[in-house]
Amino acid sequence: GFKCGIVGLPNVGKSTLFNALTKTAAAQAANYPFCTIEPNTGEVAVPDARLGKIAEIAKSKEIIPTRISFVDIAGLVRGASKGEGLGNQFLANIREVDAIVHVLRCFEDDDITHVEGKIDPVADADTIETELMLADLESLERRTEQTRKRATGREKEALLILPMMEKALELLQNGKPARLLLDGIAAEDLRLLQSLNLLTSKPVLYVCNVDEAHAASGNEQTGAVAAMAAGQNAQTVIISAEIESQLAQLEAEEAVEFLSELGLEEAGLDRLIRAGYKLLDLITFFTAGPKESRAWTVKRGAKAPQAAGVIHTDFERGFIRAQTIAYDDFVAFSGEVGARDAGKARDEGKEYVVQDGDVMLFKFNT
Ligand code: GDP
Repeated sequence: GFKCGIVGLPNVGKSTLFNALTKTAAAQAANYPFCTIEPNTGEVAVPDARLGKIAEIAKSKEIIPTRISFVDIAGLVRGASKGEGLGNQFLANIREVDAIVHVLRCFEDDDITHVEGKIDPVADADTIETELMLADLESLERRTEQTRKRATGREKEALLILPMMEKALELLQNGKPARLLLDGIAAEDLRLLQSLNLLTSKPVLYVCNVDEAHAASGNEQTGAVAAMAAGQNAQTVIISAEIESQLAQLEAEEAVEFLSELGLEEAGLDRLIRAGYKLLDLITFFTAGPKESRAWTVKRGAKAPQAAGVIHTDFERGFIRAQTIAYDDFVAFSGEVGARDAGKARDEGKEYVVQDGDVMLFKFNT
């Protein structure tokens, strides 16, 4: 599955947030017997109002959302790239996630020590980013040196990757994350960049952890973080980890009431999960029937056989075609039969690029 790694300095609220996520996931798990939760990994359902609507129209017995994982990556301190704290372990853990959720302390509380001595989320973000850049710089300098030699020998692979290496190296040498290369990058280049497996080329979402009073409006610090993120090709979400941990303990109805008292429309975790989903560049397609309606995840740009393969490998191998109905048509024509009668059910083949919201039915050879 797809994973977001939760990082941040000590005492910024990572565990509080992660525990709220897993508590929510544990509550959901009752309905989803196949969900496993490891100690530092929580699999959570991706909230999507379209799924409920589809299930209603298809009169499904069961509703099964799609899921993504969050990994709690504790232990980053200043000096991690030189092995301080859990330095190397920490960096190895980040290498394995698809995107980074970076928690920043935007709440004041004199009882809770700030490791850097003051509340300054932009400086904190910089501290961590610097460690990640230093780690990337070190590994990339070494690799670029070797690749330059091989490129002189006209080695094909080296010639292919070297320009991307040089570009990333130049950014890092100027104190900038490799992530800046992601802006408008072509698919081919993206594959090259990802093959370098840099820490700073992973997409980043900043989570501003605020106290209750600022959950709805944000505060001065969240404003500063938003300004920083805008210049870095990164996203932000304002959340109060404390509120979320309280919410995670409430029944659905109580939770709605609690949220409205706070002037919030939905749980911060739901916003976080959706933002994480977007960050991973994932899209959702649906299957619908009387037994169940279900949401599935593919990477944006995936073709129909790959989507079939998410459901079952046999579906991909034997793929013939996919009856495809856009979500809006599925709703407008009251389901599969209506959409088909209205000529809105397309037969798509192997080259079809799946669109977010497609309701699909696969035909395949066994
Ligand atoms: P971590 O080290 O980043 O995992 O941080 P924790 O989640 O353990 O939080 C550190 C401390 O800050 C704990 O005592 C939390 O209860 C507290 N904390 C977390 N979020 C908030 C918040 O929004 N407001 C306040 N006042 N305290 C918080």
